[in-house]
Amino acid sequence: MRLRNVKGARENIAASQFVIHNPEEYKGKWRELFQNNNPIHIEIGMGKGKFIQTLASNNPNINYIGIEKFSSVLIRAIEKRNELDIENLYFIRMDAEEIVNIFEEGEVNQIYLNFSDPWPKDRHAKRRLTSKEFFGRYNKILKEDGVVIFKTDNRELFDFSVEEIPQANWKLKEVTYDLHNSEFVQGNVMTEYEERFVTEGKAINRLVAYR
Ligand code: SAM
Repeated sequence: MRLRNVKGARENIAASQFVIHNPEEYKGKWRELFQNNNPIHIEIGMGKGKFIQTLASNNPNINYIGIEKFSSVLIRAIEKRNELDIENLYFIRMDAEEIVNIFEEGEVNQIYLNFSDPWPKDRHAKRRLTSKEFFGRYNKILKEDGVVIFKTDNRELFDFSVEEIPQANWKLKEVTYDLHNSEFVQGNVMTEYEERFVTEGKAINRLVAYR
């Protein structure tokens, strides 16, 4: 998702109290920012942020951090965030490739990947958020019993992920090719993309990766 030419996006992001502008400085200290020892859940590629804002509103005892690489998208999440009276949600504008510079070993309890960019060309496989390169990064920042939860409408990306993730020495559970007609739909929070795909009648794939 990339919205072009959102006027003033960079300036508004720079001024937002909900965006962490120097995330490297919080490495190992995120709990100080939240001023509690609650678990930390992150969403990588949160887009306009509906999913993570719903979770944060529903779960005040979990700290949430949404990561998005494009200002033009992040600004939409900030606009919604400004209307929420919650203290457990911050955003970072960054490419998740740098994620090990942001979080200390085991500092994160859960990672969400929702409708990640498919990067269909083989030569771009390393950029997929479910590549073994990315799982190597998650391996470092995620607590031992932490999980990665991945949803996508894209069957090719899902099939790739089902093969790739075990190669990174992670296990899979709760694998479904049709989330909305499965037992795992209970408690599911829909993302912006998911709402659109479900309306179009597309099946949603979902898996949970653990070690
Ligand atoms: N998760 C949202 C949803 O389900 O509605 C947005 C899905 S959109 C297809 C994928 C988003 O991930 C885009 O906003 C894109 O900019 C972001 N993204 C992709 N790769 C990223 C990366 N390496 N680091 C941070 N954000 C990324």
